[in-house]
Parts: sequence; C-alpha cells; structure tokens
Amino acid sequence: MSARDVENIFTDIVERAKALDPANARKWFDTLKVAHFDGGSIGIGCPDEASVRFLDQNCRTGFTRAAQQITGHLVTVDFFLDGVGDAQQAVAAVPSGPALHPDYTFDNFVVGPSNRLAHASCIAVSQSLGATYNPLFLYGNAGLGKTHLLHAVCHEARRRGGEAIIQLLSCEDFVNRFIRAIEQGNLAGFHSQFRTVDALVIDDVQFLREREQSQEEFFHTFNALYNNGRQIILSADSPPAEIPSLEDRLISRLNWGLVARIDPPSYETRVAIVQKKAHLRGLQLDDEIAEYVARQVQANIRELEGALTTIYALATTMREPVTLDLARRALEGQIKLATRHISITDIIEVVTRHFDVRLTDLQSKRRSQSITMPRQICMYLARSLTKHSLEEIGGHLGGRDHTTVMHACNKIAEAVASDPKMQALLGELSRQVAQGQPAQR
Ligand code: ADP
Ligand code: MG
Repeated sequence: MSARDVENIFTDIVERAKALDPANARKWFDTLKVAHFDGGSIGIGCPDEASVRFLDQNCRTGFTRAAQQITGHLVTVDFFLDGVGDAQQAVAAVPSGPALHPDYTFDNFVVGPSNRLAHASCIAVSQSLGATYNPLFLYGNAGLGKTHLLHAVCHEARRRGGEAIIQLLSCEDFVNRFIRAIEQGNLAGFHSQFRTVDALVIDDVQFLREREQSQEEFFHTFNALYNNGRQIILSADSPPAEIPSLEDRLISRLNWGLVARIDPPSYETRVAIVQKKAHLRGLQLDDEIAEYVARQVQANIRELEGALTTIYALATTMREPVTLDLARRALEGQIKLATRHISITDIIEVVTRHFDVRLTDLQSKRRSQSITMPRQICMYLARSLTKHSLEEIGGHLGGRDHTTVMHACNKIAEAVASDPKMQALLGELSRQVAQGQPAQR
C-alpha cells in the first residue's frame, strides 16, 4: 500500500468515525495524522495530550468501528502524541497532569453579560497565578460553564508558564484521595502533594458539605497555599455562605478573594454558543436554526449542546441536510422522548405493525428472514431506547440469551452504518417509538 493509499483510508476512517458518533466528533479530527498502519493496527498521532485523552476516553469505540467498516477487518486503534512513533513510548510521554478537556479553552468560551465577570477574572488569574484574585470562587447552576472556565485557566496558565505546577481535580476526588491517604497512613504524602502546587483548582466544592474532616483538611491546605502566595480557584453551585454546613471560618476564607456568579445566558449568548459548538464540530449552521435551538433550550448550556447533537444525529441517520424542519422534528422528538417512558412493549408494537408480524412470531423459534429481521430490530431498538439489560430484552423476545441479543444489536448497527435505507428505517421507527405514534404502513 502506498503512503497515499494509507492517507486516503485514514481520511475515510476519520469521516466514518465522525458520522458514527456525531456527539463526539470534532473539527480538529482533521488535524489527526496516521502514524502507522499495518493492516491489523493503526496508530493515530494527535496534536497534544488533551486530545489524546479525549480520544482515548470518548472515541475509541467509534474509531474502532469506523476502521473495521472501512478496511473490512478488525483493526486495533491507538492514539498518541504526534511525533512519538512508538505507541508504548507515547503513553509514557503523556505527563500525568490534570486531564484537561481539549475543547474547554478561552477561545471556545462565549462571553456575554451572564458570565463576563467570571470570564474576566479567570483570564486575569491565568495570566499571573496568585497575583490578582485569590481565591477565585465561581458559582452558578449546573451546566453554565464553571468546569469549562476552570479548564480554560489551566490550559492558558500552562501555555504561558509551562513550569507552573497546577493541580486540577473535582472536590469528590480531593475527598477520596484524602480518605485514601488516611487509610494508608500517608497523610504526609497527601500534604506534600497538595500544599506544594502553584495553583490548586477544585471543581464543585459544595461536595465538602457535611464532610467535617475533609473540610478541616481543606482549610489547612487553603492556608498553606494562601500564605505562600499560591493561587486557589474553586467552583460551586452556590455562594460560600449558602453551601449547607460549611464552617464559618472556611466561608470567610472563601470570601477573601473574588466571588463571581455565572447566570443563565441571554438569548443572544445562547445563539452564539450554538454557533460556536457547531463550528467546533466542523459544521455549518444557518442562523435561523441556531436561533430556533436557542429559543428551545434556555436554562442549561449542556442541554443546548445536547439539542445540537440530537439534530445532527437525526440528520446523519436520515441522510438529510440540516434544515429548520429537520431541527424541529429532532427536538420535538427529543422533548417527547424526555417526558415519555419507553417500554419494550412500545417498541414491539411499532415494529410488529410496521413489518406486519405477530409478537408470537418474534418469540417463536422461526428463523426465516421475514421474522429474524424484525426480531433483531426490536432488540436493537430496546437496547438503544430503554435501559433494559441484554438478558431482559432476550426474555421479552422468546427467552433468548444475552449473546443472541448482542449479536442482533451488532448486526443491525452494522447494517445501519452501511445501508442508507436501513438508517432511514431505523430513524423513522425510533421516532415513532419516541413519539408514541402508530407506525404508518
Ligand atoms: P458546569 O461545570 O457549570 O456544570 P460546564 O462547564 O460543564 O458547566 O458546561 C457545560 C457545557 O456547556 C460544556 O460543554 C461547556 O463547554 C458549555 N458551555 C458553558 N458555558 C459556555 C460558554 N459561555 N461558551 C461556550 N460553551 C459553554
Ligand atoms: Mg462542572
């Protein structure tokens, strides 16, 4: 195979991976490089450690399936830092710093009246750790960008400083590590780990409530860092004084620096965020669609992103362009999906009506194609639209075991990925199930 062929195959794999898993697809996938490809395994070179982590944690399945579909056989996929040829070496080359989300940068953060203060203070802090607002405390409801800003500070501080030791972790993680240190009798190790950093960034500190001993430890960590001019950045779902059962002396410490609130975004900010998120995934979105999405979802930016994902998933499944009409259908389905509890019976009803078969046929041992296919589709839909286990799904369809169900799900998934007609059919059946509509015949 020439280098050119390898490049082409790789481009196809990336495109397929994006299509198979639009929620995790990103525009920067186009900057990925094929580092080696020997038929049985493919090494993918990534621009930085954040993208290695992102791909490793979110995209392995998508890329593996894509590679299998494009090459026609099973291929192992490895992600590593570009420039390091050997996968083994590459793993060692990724430093064990905080796992930063590659998308959570200042560049990707849309600033509006609701988050201006929080954003400005994060920028200031990232430019000179320990020198401006200390501690910096961000608070706001879930899904409004606290975690995004904390990661952005770390990205930026790293980009500038390089040498600064930055510890970013969730409060839960802090508490768990503390507990483990006590169990292992290694408090000294814990102290030296957290009291010697240049910046300590802890997400969701409301988790400290009712954890007296951890609060105590946090208090001392805080003092040690603060007295040495080290930066402390925290986030929570409410201001310090409103976090239940937080000690007064801790509340007063947290109020020493700057406390910045993040409010739900305005309509204009939401439109800009939708555009930004679409752009990140390398997608073009008409203004009227962005505006429609921004009107539908108001209080939570995570849900705004979810809406975008749903729209692109429907567009991919149906092989249709993203139009306002498609966006409407996608979100109407989603809203009903969220409020409607889907049971296996709903799925069986839609499928049996569509294929004109009876439930007893699906439950029987018959293996003719006219029965096998609807049966497998039921299994696939039950797997993707309900929370039932493979065993339970098999139980509803004639007491089949979990490997049979798994085989059916894989088979239909492959058909959906390779056959546009199958995609359209499954998209339509899912929509009918989600909306509780009778199947049209
Ligand atoms: P929180 O930690 O407050 O619950 P997150 O930081 O996890 O919220 O944000 C949820 C999602 O919304 C993330 O994908 C984040 O990138 C996105 N988001 C939040 N605020 C903004 C913003 N101002 N601009 C762009 N994306 C945002
Ligand atoms: Mg968060």
